[in-house]
Amino acid sequence: MKILIINAGSSSLKYQFMESEGGQVFAKGLCERIGIDGRLTHKVPGREDVKQDIPMPTHGEAIQAVLDIMTDPEKGVIRSTDEIAAVGHRVLHGGMAFTESCIIDDKCIEAIKKCIPLGPLHNPANLMGIEACQKIMPNTPQVAVFDTAFHMTMPPKAYIYAIPYEYYEKDDVRRYGFHGTSHRYVSARAIDLLGNPEHSRVICCHLGNGSSLSAVVDGKCVDTTMGLGPLAGFPMGTRSGDVDATILEYLMGRYGYDIKEMLNILNKKSGVLGISGVSSDFRDLDEAAAKGNARAQLALDKFAYEVRKFIGAYASAMGGVDAIVFTAGVGENSTDMREHICQGLAYMGVEMDPEKNKVRGREADVSAAGSRVKIFVIPTNEELMIAMDTAELCKK
Ligand code: ADP
Repeated sequence: MKILIINAGSSSLKYQFMESEGGQVFAKGLCERIGIDGRLTHKVPGREDVKQDIPMPTHGEAIQAVLDIMTDPEKGVIRSTDEIAAVGHRVLHGGMAFTESCIIDDKCIEAIKKCIPLGPLHNPANLMGIEACQKIMPNTPQVAVFDTAFHMTMPPKAYIYAIPYEYYEKDDVRRYGFHGTSHRYVSARAIDLLGNPEHSRVICCHLGNGSSLSAVVDGKCVDTTMGLGPLAGFPMGTRSGDVDATILEYLMGRYGYDIKEMLNILNKKSGVLGISGVSSDFRDLDEAAAKGNARAQLALDKFAYEVRKFIGAYASAMGGVDAIVFTAGVGENSTDMREHICQGLAYMGVEMDPEKNKVRGREADVSAAGSRVKIFVIPTNEELMIAMDTAELCKK
């Protein structure tokens, strides 16, 4: 089935048009500066990229621009929008309402709206994308795929916070976790690569700009590092990961920050950028560290150390581990970071083959012969997962 995938942000909208079986990508692109002026970048494999300035006061014009270019006789890939069998939307927060993907109807939209307080930046933008598609393509089925859904199998001891229970009961405060579509895709692939054993314990390391780990037993998530929001876990490009809440009170008192300013520091100015003062991009950090920049090295050390600690924690939580998966920008591409993270884990049967680990952006088993735990590099493919869910729900 030919599926259009939409990932709508507040001022941008990514799209990909692909085949749900086999994953062939026909076209993809990005609308930027929605609500400001509007720019479209459209990519078709084997052709030159198209860049156009098109007014996009709202997400409606952005979606229309995508459909126009997709059906353009020269630059397009389809004759009419009838060739789009369905639209799959990436939605950030599904709260407790969504344990899996669902066909978008009025009830679903209401439930996504109810999750806005939990995902105040993303859910309204996701909804704008959905509503624009409904208006322009009223007869095309739409599906919502949630970043949180895969993690909804976590047991209460993993998702409950140790604060008064009433905040869970009355206000839905709990661990949700994100990157769920990626964790679902790579954990399923890892289980395949393990030979589909009846029982399996997999740790997925999604290491990108935003990063999270998940612990997956028999294909079901039992724990993950992100929390109510995506700020939690270990240091990321610009996010702090878990911090002692006392730091907030201390710095807010010293500098007169309000909570918005404080959270902006923790979300945008922290992580490896905050420690290094150099960059949030791991390639820049590698370069700076190689030239002797001690803070860039410290940022890389801190990142690897915290990921390694969570690997140990999740191995304990699951009573062992059969495979560790590396995925996303850093996980798929950085030989050095994978090696750094796996250093000293031989005690738990994790042994990497440094030669096999010299791989970038493709699936590989990088564990040493005889390593009790398999180490896999698996490029994530959230779009394919969304396309597959969309096709499956539409067939039903
Ligand atoms: P996002 O979370 O925005 O989807 P990605 O998964 O694309 O991010 O990951 C982006 C990160 O991947 C950047 O910090 C970038 O430095 C890192 N990255 C990409 N290629 C490499 C590489 N060859 N070595 C180290 N890091 C890399």
